[in-house]
Amino acid sequence: MLYRKEEFYDAAAVQKLKENYSGVITAIGEDGAREGLEKTPERVAKSMLFLTQGYSMDAAEILNSAKFHESYNEMVLVKNIELYSLCEHHMMPFFGKAHIAYIPNGWITGLSKLGHVVECFSRRLQVQERMTHQILDAIQDTLNPLGVGVVIEAQHLCMMMRGVQKQNSVTTTSAFSGQFMKNETRSEFLKLISADLG
Ligand SMILES: [Zn+2]
Repeated sequence: MLYRKEEFYDAAAVQKLKENYSGVITAIGEDGAREGLEKTPERVAKSMLFLTQGYSMDAAEILNSAKFHESYNEMVLVKNIELYSLCEHHMMPFFGKAHIAYIPNGWITGLSKLGHVVECFSRRLQVQERMTHQILDAIQDTLNPLGVGVVIEAQHLCMMMRGVQKQNSVTTTSAFSGQFMKNETRSEFLKLISADLG
């Protein structure tokens, strides 16, 4: 075999979650012993560990692992980074896109690392507002750029499937630092993320 991606789940954590999800299945009145549900607690346990893997990730470590000296000092923008997170109030998914830009000040990072930073903060129990700032702070603190801009657009299942049941609402949050506090830079960023470059 020339390539294999391995998955790892902590056995003790799987066991503990499995027991708890068995309890949930019984508590909602289901028969945990019926065929279709037999392995569900273990599957959900593993799924939950996957969905919250961000707790074992370190954003500064991710960005520093591909930090290069570079004199480029125009805006670097990665847009439409998909994200899947869990709202911490209902533990239901919210999902959408992150758009991240920064203006280097001597240092750049690997473009894919911005995607990993999004994973780091989205793969945990979150609120969209905090996540937006955490992404900004991680980039600002690690690369010390001239400025960072982060915009996140997401749909929250806790609003769509329950509660007010609003199917088409999109929540947008943004955070800016340094040069992005200036109207001109911020407008350029916002124009670029809304443009369809085909
Ligand atoms: Zn919620």
